[in-house]
This record gives sequence, C-alpha cells and structure tokens, in this order.
Amino acid sequence: MVVMRSAGGLLRVMCGLTNAREPRIFGFMAKQEFSIPKIADRVRTEADAYLMLEELRWGGAPTACPKCGGMDRCHYIAPKNGTDRKTRTGSASQRRVWFCGHCRKQFSVLTGTIFHGTRIPVRTWLLVMFDFCAAKNSISAWEISRRYEITNESAWHMLHRIREAMKREPLAGLLTGAIVSDETWYGGKPKNRHRSHAGRSGFTDKQPIVSLIHKESGEVRSVAVPTVNGENLTAILRENVDIPASVLHTDAAQIYRTIGMPFSDHQSVSHADGEYVRDGVSTNTAEGFFSQLKRSLDGTQHHVSVEHLPRYLSEFDFRYSTRKMDDSERMRLMIGRTDGRRLPYAPLTADGPVRVPPHVVDACM
Ligand SMILES: [Zn+2]
Repeated sequence: MVVMRSAGGLLRVMCGLTNAREPRIFGFMAKQEFSIPKIADRVRTEADAYLMLEELRWGGAPTACPKCGGMDRCHYIAPKNGTDRKTRTGSASQRRVWFCGHCRKQFSVLTGTIFHGTRIPVRTWLLVMFDFCAAKNSISAWEISRRYEITNESAWHMLHRIREAMKREPLAGLLTGAIVSDETWYGGKPKNRHRSHAGRSGFTDKQPIVSLIHKESGEVRSVAVPTVNGENLTAILRENVDIPASVLHTDAAQIYRTIGMPFSDHQSVSHADGEYVRDGVSTNTAEGFFSQLKRSLDGTQHHVSVEHLPRYLSEFDFRYSTRKMDDSERMRLMIGRTDGRRLPYAPLTADGPVRVPPHVVDACM
C-alpha cells in the first residue's frame, strides 16, 4: 500500500500541497503492519512483548497445550500483584504463564519453540526478527550483537534459531510445473589459500549447491551436495518434484540428458552458444538467485562453514521464495514456523565454541 493512491495525489505531495492528514513526503512510502518504530512503540515492556508474540503465534490465546496437546482447558494465570511474578532465583519476571487443566503443567508462548529456554528478552527477539526478515542481504551476528547490545555468541545462536524457523515445512508438497535446476559452487580457489594451509594445489574443493526453482511461484529449494553427479541430482529432484507432471529447464550440461528423460519434457539453453532465453526457457532465475546468495554470503557473512551452510541456504531460499511479500508478512510467516524447532546451543557447537576468525571480525567492524 502506498500513501498516495493517485497521480494527482503524488503531484500534490511533490508540490508540497498536502493537507494536514497526509505526511509531507516526496515520492512513495510503503506502509506496513510492522516497522522497528512501530514495534518499539507497541512493545514497551516484556509483558507487551509476550502479548505480541501470543498474538502472532496463537492469534491471542493457545488452542492446545504445547506439553500434552490437550485442548480447551488452557487458562492464563495472572500475576498476584498484576504486573510480575517472582522467579526461582528471586528476580521479577513479566513472563505470561498459562496453565493446562489436562496435564496440570504450566507453559508460555516460548515453550517448545525456537525461543525455548532463551535468556534474551522477548522484546529484543521481536526487534531482531523484524530486522532480520526485512534485510535483503541478511545481517551478520556481529551487527546484531552491536545493534542490540548482546554477546556475539548469543546473536549467532539467535540468528541460527531464526534460520531454523525459516526452513520449509517438512511436509511441503512436491513442486509441479516448469522447474529450473542449476548448480553453483561456493568457496575460494585452493591456489588463493595461505601458504601455511594445506591443499593449495589440486582440484577445487568448493562446496557445490544445487537449487530448484519453481518458475510460476518463484519458490526455491537449495541443497548442499558433496558432489554434483547424476545420483545426487536425481535424488534431489525425486524428493522435491512431481517428475512425470513437470517440465525441466536446465543449461546444456551433459549430466541432465539422462536425468531429464522421466520428465514430461526437458528443455535446455546452451550458454556456450550464447543462448540464454528461448521461448520462455532459461536458467536466468537460478542465476539471479545464486548472485543474491553469493552477494550475501561474501558481503555480509564473509565466511560460512560447510557444517552450517544448509541453515544459511534455508534462509536464502526463504528470502527468495517470499520476496513478493512485505517485511511484516514475511515475519508473520517465519513466526508461524517457530513451533517444534528447538535448536539448543550445545549440539550446534559440538565441535567447540563459536570462534569468529580475527580477519572476519576486522572486516565487520
Ligand atoms: Zn497439557
């Protein structure tokens, strides 16, 4: 939605002839349900933050208990003094607590979600989630750490939990229609490694990424694979695409000749012959997605370990697939997927604590 709905209205604004109810701005201003000032204004206390999250997740009140699944017997326990309650450590908490009449246990809007057990204020979570959903090229943990005054480890864990929520639904259906399949390689060239690092010569060990894009809806599904071969590509396509009912669009790579056979049709363009689009057949959508992905991985994150790469791919698949939504719709969709996706810090860092290399820290400062 834009402020000025007509050309006449825009002209009046540009000439400074606005009436008292219209903001004096030049050009267009997108109006959204949420923005950082709107959230900051609406959520002034932790109790407000819990209320807003309850509205976003449950539409106001829980429909079922997250612990036993029991319905209809959940009720809110109001604090005795009306504002806060004492925790086990003796501090005051504004957490909104609910009680289930079936299992007789207490729970909150955070139970069983990516927020489970967090010590970061829910108010900070809401602001960070909006900021993250609105950022086209992603945001690094260091930026979040500085902006919201939390430790880098907390910011890093927070962003990975948000990425976990951005993963597509496990029961998301198969893609049907025209599907673009393409691959890219992420990482530096071995010859550019420092002298002290092993493996400077020999074949590339860049990480291959395969992406499938549904041409009509623009939905993307990306997978990091050990190698690009017929077996891996076939497995990914079978898992995500209704093959007999779909048309495959690829470049002229030899590997797709056999893979494309079971599809109802297989069309390819030959980049080597300077052919990029032919009768609506192209891999341009995949090229566009890859350039956005690499800009964000190189420009914002600087370095992504192979171990965590699938979660970053979920993030960029989500960003690209929802690019036509506004930031508020994207945040609502993401928050709707937070249930049942706990991501504790310990298994995430099983190989040791998070260490950001010094050169990355310098680059982010
Ligand atoms: Zn229960």
